Amino acid sequence: MNRMDTRHALFPIVQGSMFPDLRRECAQAMLELDAEGYAIGGLSVGEPRPLSLEMVATTEAILPRTRPRYAMGVGMPEELAEYVALGVDMMDCVLPSRNARNGCLFTSQGRVIIKHARYKDDARPLDPACTCYTCAHYSRAYLRHLYLAGEMLYAMLATRHNIRRYLDIMREIRDAIVSEHILST
Ligand SMILES: [Zn+2]
Repeated sequence: MNRMDTRHALFPIVQGSMFPDLRRECAQAMLELDAEGYAIGGLSVGEPRPLSLEMVATTEAILPRTRPRYAMGVGMPEELAEYVALGVDMMDCVLPSRNARNGCLFTSQGRVIIKHARYKDDARPLDPACTCYTCAHYSRAYLRHLYLAGEMLYAMLATRHNIRRYLDIMREIRDAIVSEHILST
């Protein structure tokens, strides 16, 4: 069966810890599989970020440019553009949902730690620039109340917002790439 007939795609995972030679050796071996895409694994396991980025750069240089690359387990909102600049097409991470549940919300203006007293009477939406359901319907003060009360609704609303923030960042990056392409042609 032609693998492209299915909606699924198998991505082999390039490993090699923090050793560039092992990363290169693994990536070379994976090329023989002629896969639909390639994953870069073993990142965000406690290593310094510059080392993580170095491993991505080392691996990416070997992987075919015509296939999507997927960096596993990254990253913070401010890091996404860096990974894209290194040639990464997709990422996944627990951060938007885990941080949301723990009271850390990502906005276009920076982070909001919702438990802080300064939000007690703050009637503004979490992020005025965001069009998500949470920001359209609930105030910072109400989200803070839900968080402090331990209401499950808080986790749902906060997660919904943080995931939207990540999607917005990736959309902005895609738009920037398209604009750059148009300007350069
Ligand atoms: Zn929002």
